[in-house]
Amino acid sequence: FSTSARQVRGPSGERLGAALAYQELTELLRAMKVKDEFISSVSHELRTPLTSVLGYLELLRDDDSLTPEARAQVLTIQRNAVRLQALVSDLLQVGQVGEGSLRIRYADADLTALVRDAVEAARQDAAGRGIEIAVEAPVSLVARVDEQRIRQVLDNLLSNALKYSRTGGSVVATLHETSDAVVLEVSDTGIGIAADEVEHVFARFFRGGGALEQHIPGTGLGLNIVSSIVAAHGGEVSLESELGRGSTFRVVLPRTEG
Ligand code: ADP
Repeated sequence: FSTSARQVRGPSGERLGAALAYQELTELLRAMKVKDEFISSVSHELRTPLTSVLGYLELLRDDDSLTPEARAQVLTIQRNAVRLQALVSDLLQVGQVGEGSLRIRYADADLTALVRDAVEAARQDAAGRGIEIAVEAPVSLVARVDEQRIRQVLDNLLSNALKYSRTGGSVVATLHETSDAVVLEVSDTGIGIAADEVEHVFARFFRGGGALEQHIPGTGLGLNIVSSIVAAHGGEVSLESELGRGSTFRVVLPRTEG
């Protein structure tokens, strides 16, 4: 279906703006809802069989009768199945966000511990890629957030920072507070993002030129999930980047009263 905009003019014919016909807007919203429901149900349906595939692959991998070649093939299947699982879980999240069912469960959390845990979890990946990873944070910084969701934000930003870095690079996660907010930053010295792509990186399914040219795997969903979680906290995520030099993603979360 198509949408058309109508000019709205003032008494002396001056342009005040444009309006979408109400019916077309309703149709557009319904189509968006159908799309979100579709994403949600497909990802739900994919989850169960994938869990079973992964379970059997694990059994098969540990089978002593496998030849080394067969075991290598099983490991390749397993790696790809794990990637599929990550994609399905991202799709599930995106579906939830679109349906407006991203619920935030606020509780006091020590963000310093949260950042340190997330960095520890990323350390092996960093070492494998030859990248230094560090934390700069106060001894403790307690804020009311949904701890699980903010951990997801950190995991996404850290995994991107590593994925879009080169051997010998470095990644730093920093945490500090201002008078009315807490600020989380993840910086890298990686491939950077072209100026004309910066405004698109939070869009669903967007993948940058560098990511595509260098065949860096991804779904284009991670930053969309990050921005939805941050927005649900009433916060903002922004980024500064220079192509070929690196990027800094900044998450500002307002202090909320208990
Ligand atoms: P994905 O990484 O799966 O492609 P994201 O939504 O996490 O999806 O990121 C969208 C795009 O933004 C990426 O494809 C990449 O082009 C760019 N991007 C994200 N993080 C970084 C980063 N730290 N350095 C360079 N480019 C990045």
